[in-house]
Amino acid sequence: MADKAKRIFLTEDEMPKQWYNVRADMKIKPAPLIHPGTHEPLTVEQMSPIFCEELCKQELDNDTRYIDIPEEVLEFYKIFRPSPLIRAYQLEKELGTPAHIYYKFEGNNTSGSHKLNSAAAQVYYAKKQGLDSITTETGAGQWGTALAMASAFFHIPLTVYMVKCSYEQKPFRKSVIQSFGADIIPSPSDTTEVGRQILAKFPGTGGSLGCAISEAVEKATHTPNSRYVLGSVLNQVLLHQSIIGEEAYIQMEKAGEYPDIVIGCAGGGSNLGGIMSAFMRDKLTGKKDPEIIAVEPASCPSLTRGRFAYDFCDTGHVCPLGKMYTLGSEFMPSPSHAGGLRYHGMSPIVSQLYHDGYMRAVAVEQTKVFEAATLFARTETILPAPESSHAIRAAIDEALKCKETGEAKTILFNLTGTGYFDMTAYQAYHDGKMSDLIPTDEDLEKGFATIPNVE
Ligand SMILES: *Cc1c(COP(=O)(O)O)cnc(C)c1O
Repeated sequence: MADKAKRIFLTEDEMPKQWYNVRADMKIKPAPLIHPGTHEPLTVEQMSPIFCEELCKQELDNDTRYIDIPEEVLEFYKIFRPSPLIRAYQLEKELGTPAHIYYKFEGNNTSGSHKLNSAAAQVYYAKKQGLDSITTETGAGQWGTALAMASAFFHIPLTVYMVKCSYEQKPFRKSVIQSFGADIIPSPSDTTEVGRQILAKFPGTGGSLGCAISEAVEKATHTPNSRYVLGSVLNQVLLHQSIIGEEAYIQMEKAGEYPDIVIGCAGGGSNLGGIMSAFMRDKLTGKKDPEIIAVEPASCPSLTRGRFAYDFCDTGHVCPLGKMYTLGSEFMPSPSHAGGLRYHGMSPIVSQLYHDGYMRAVAVEQTKVFEAATLFARTETILPAPESSHAIRAAIDEALKCKETGEAKTILFNLTGTGYFDMTAYQAYHDGKMSDLIPTDEDLEKGFATIPNVE
């Protein structure tokens, strides 16, 4: 075993120079974003007061298969990419599985996650458009940090609305974000109209991603020459994240393997979209047929228990509507420790592919996720983020199935990030104080009742 490579690297030259737009190969395209008032598909003109113009074009582009990564973005990528693909020999051994387990490690930058891939692109386009500032929301804090890093790199001021319960659980996130020069405000806050309304309706709420999005959009649209940027869900974000899968595809080839199973955790769907797209291309074009698995928390089960419908992307209903698997924009998930997976909806691309049977989804409970996380840390030496550990859980479960059947399947999962800011969660797990909060059907009905009736 000693002569087998654990880490499969790419050189800078081998790094993909284009993003892959999986929509181009989808037979049924994801439904377009629609205007919350008229329910008509949005145009670039209607979207551009909220989002950067080039990003609006990418959002609506269902046809261009490959889009060149701008030179400036490539230069930024090269600071932290290509990311390594690692064979988890030690984990395999510990499990006693014949499966080959590979993971793509996206946590090797200060944000501690894959989110920098899209932050770099979005901030570059904002700068190129000559904007004076940008705003965003952040859940667990990784996106806010990634965006603060990119904003510092491209010199553009940033305001971050951070979901309040995460802000309180992870006080040092604030210090990191401020170190990169951005402003950070816990959400809901009294700095926006929608924040004040939510505070009045749900006093003492720990907030949610949907609510923080509403505040960040309001701030951008009420500030001259400012725009809002979003870290997940949107088609453009999945496009930027495709770099993960494009790299992994080449690295798997270098390892002389092809994955039977590709796994990603699913919050808004961006890292899953990123790792799977290159393999989905093979599925959509009939070249290969890997199994693709989305892993979500049992506390926020949008794919496994949600409805496929047009819904608001945010709690305050200031954003366009997207057709997606959703729990309803007013669904307030219980305060689980995987802040980045607490979103009520799901990327329209992932939703459509799931709806059309190109992938399956599993929901996993928090305590089982942390059991997987600690096993992974002890064998592979990386302390994983709680979000990423959902994918680890599913990879371990698949590897254990292989142990039973004796099949040596090749499993690839995306290790989206590191968990150094999640020690409150790890401590709760060690102290036996972590519970599995699974919504009842009744809880879900309350959320479903907030889904608008749109054909
Ligand atoms: C944000 C985040 C996720 C979930 O977001 P997606 O858009 O579903 O990828 C997963 N893992 C980490 C580490 C994150 O920061």
